[in-house]
Amino acid sequence: MADNKVIAVVGATGAQGGGLADAILRDPDGGFTVRALTRNPESDAATALASRGAEVVAADLDDQASLSAAFVGAHGVFGVTNYWELFSVEREQAQAANIARASVEAGVHHVIWSTLEDTRKWIPLDDDRMPTLAEHYKVPHYDSKGEADALFAEAGTPTTYLATAFYWENLFGMGTVARGDDGVLAITLPMGDARLPGIAVKDIGITAYGVFQRGDELIGSHIGIAGEHLRIAEMAATLTAVLGEEVKYVDIPADVFRSFGFPGADDAGNMFQFKHDFEDYYVGARDLSVVRSLNPDLQTFESWARANKDRFEGITRP
Ligand code: NAP
Repeated sequence: MADNKVIAVVGATGAQGGGLADAILRDPDGGFTVRALTRNPESDAATALASRGAEVVAADLDDQASLSAAFVGAHGVFGVTNYWELFSVEREQAQAANIARASVEAGVHHVIWSTLEDTRKWIPLDDDRMPTLAEHYKVPHYDSKGEADALFAEAGTPTTYLATAFYWENLFGMGTVARGDDGVLAITLPMGDARLPGIAVKDIGITAYGVFQRGDELIGSHIGIAGEHLRIAEMAATLTAVLGEEVKYVDIPADVFRSFGFPGADDAGNMFQFKHDFEDYYVGARDLSVVRSLNPDLQTFESWARANKDRFEGITRP
């Protein structure tokens, strides 16, 4: 319909933005339409969105003018950056600034910025509980986004700051859930007995849709989100019940995680240590009742695990 509000979704071909695009497309009478931004409108993910009714537009986060053009006429913008493609705080923050400024230039009414904490507010650089990385950061992919919050305020962008959480889908990556030599599935993480806020990644986008549905109410607000706050031992017990086979928790020191050697292992190791050491703050900043009010069908870990049972069952011995 002509008077539908257009939401320009950065990252619509990816995990977070894809969840938002899907939520809008599943609700054709909801009053919103999707404009999916991508560097490659010919990709399978982009053409699949187009075939479902999304308007697909070429734009690049490194190019502010391309964003301004793609945002013209949009009511809302969902902004996400992919640190793991960049491995650069400077580039991620330049992209965030491009989103912030282009939104103002195009007259966008409401921006949701997918952010995370600047951990240095809790653990300053001279605190040697964890190593300082790239001279200026404790958790570069967090600190970068948290510091970039100010870029939205400086640009005068009408922004909701959406602090996300650990995707449960990460359990399938970096050997986080793997079968040991004994054949038993194990979750290996450095979380001790602390609760880890986690979420089914689709629920990030669905919750963002709930923010847009609220109108102006949440402009200027910081909202932390998660699906549940579970100890890893609790996640292992749930997986044991869902899969019908034992899943163990292998608790390791953060130093061991940092030494794993995959790109960003030091950054991720510091992240888990931050979540462990500042558990009460980190959990408290993600109020599940607020998330459920925006996204009433928010998945639990158990419902997510049941839906992903096949993927766990496909994990074979090394
Ligand atoms: P993703 O699934 O890897 O997808 C990345 C998306 O970003 C794609 O849609 C891609 O679009 C788009 N993109 C990347 N660079 C672009 C550019 N220069 N111009 C335009 N679009 C660009 O990413 P995601 O998981 O949704 O989000 C990644 C972010 O989530 C990271 O910064 C990470 O720190 C954060 N995060 C991750 C977790 C976790 O547990 N893994 C938790 C919280 C937050 P095209 O390729 O189609 O152009």
